[in-house]
Amino acid sequence: MSAKIISGTETAKAIREELTVEVAELKDKHNIVPGLVTILVGEDPASQSYVSAKNKTAKALGIHSEQVTLAADTSNEDLLALVEKYNNDDKINGILVQLPLPKHIDEPKILNAINPDKDVDGFHPVNVGRMVVGEKCFLPCTPHGVLELLTRSGVETSGAEVVVVGRSNIVGKPMVNLMLQKRPAGNSTVTVCHTRTKDMAFHTKRADIIIAAAGVPKMITADMVKDGVVVIDVGVNRIGKTESGKAILAGDVDFDGVKEKAAAITPVPGGVGPMTITMLMKNTVQAAKQAAGLI
Ligand code: NAP
Repeated sequence: MSAKIISGTETAKAIREELTVEVAELKDKHNIVPGLVTILVGEDPASQSYVSAKNKTAKALGIHSEQVTLAADTSNEDLLALVEKYNNDDKINGILVQLPLPKHIDEPKILNAINPDKDVDGFHPVNVGRMVVGEKCFLPCTPHGVLELLTRSGVETSGAEVVVVGRSNIVGKPMVNLMLQKRPAGNSTVTVCHTRTKDMAFHTKRADIIIAAAGVPKMITADMVKDGVVVIDVGVNRIGKTESGKAILAGDVDFDGVKEKAAAITPVPGGVGPMTITMLMKNTVQAAKQAAGLI
């Protein structure tokens, strides 16, 4: 068997088309333009490219987008003041502080200072709490993207044995919580593996769905999965460079081996990656609608 390839590129394109229509309707019917600000501290090249991709995507969808870049030695106080400024700016519905922040910055303090109603990354404890109890909230973008990939590919999650590999606050933990929610895209029986898990293959071999988010290249191999498994590979690992200097990427799953046993699998690149920015845009549009009392 060779797996169906779940394309994040195609799914993200479809969602962006839907959002473009929605943004145009908001403008035409309600004179609302959703607004997003990205705040970058320092000059980390990877962060710079993520932030510019976010702003470019926002603009392409008709979202008002502002990009603020601060010096690497910006103080906690100045960063807090900037967040506060945007908390009070009616043009801005979503505030994204690009992580990681420089070491001298108190990251939790900054994230907690964002108004939860503008926290389109879904990292504020208020949104995390709402997610856990199943209330309306901003879902963190990468797990939200995984949910969309599963549902739009017609993968049945209800009653499925789901194994999440990784327990970070931005991917693994929210993923676990979303899959066990009592609603159509959840209702799974969830196991979570991490570095202290004694026998990961024991768990992955029983899984109907594996969601891999460990950051270890090609860690999940064909002998660790059962026939017919659905595999969502969140991992993005740089494993080398091409002659032209472009990064060669690999996921956490040995794609070539596992695709011969899986029913469906996401590639890297072109799987979860394109979904993350798209879900940020979806959250920004949601924030604008909430601010206007439309939802
Ligand atoms: P992270 O904060 O480093 O967390 C990694 C998690 O995986 C930890 O819980 C760790 O366990 C676990 N882990 C690491 N090595 C393991 C091993 N050998 N066996 C079992 N568990 C292991 O990483 P993250 O931020 O969640 O990101 C995970 C991966 O997803 C990375 O490759 C990252 O680049 C990628 N990512 C992609 C997107 C996207 O848009 N596609 C977005 C975010 C992240 P412990 O808790 O025990 O240390």
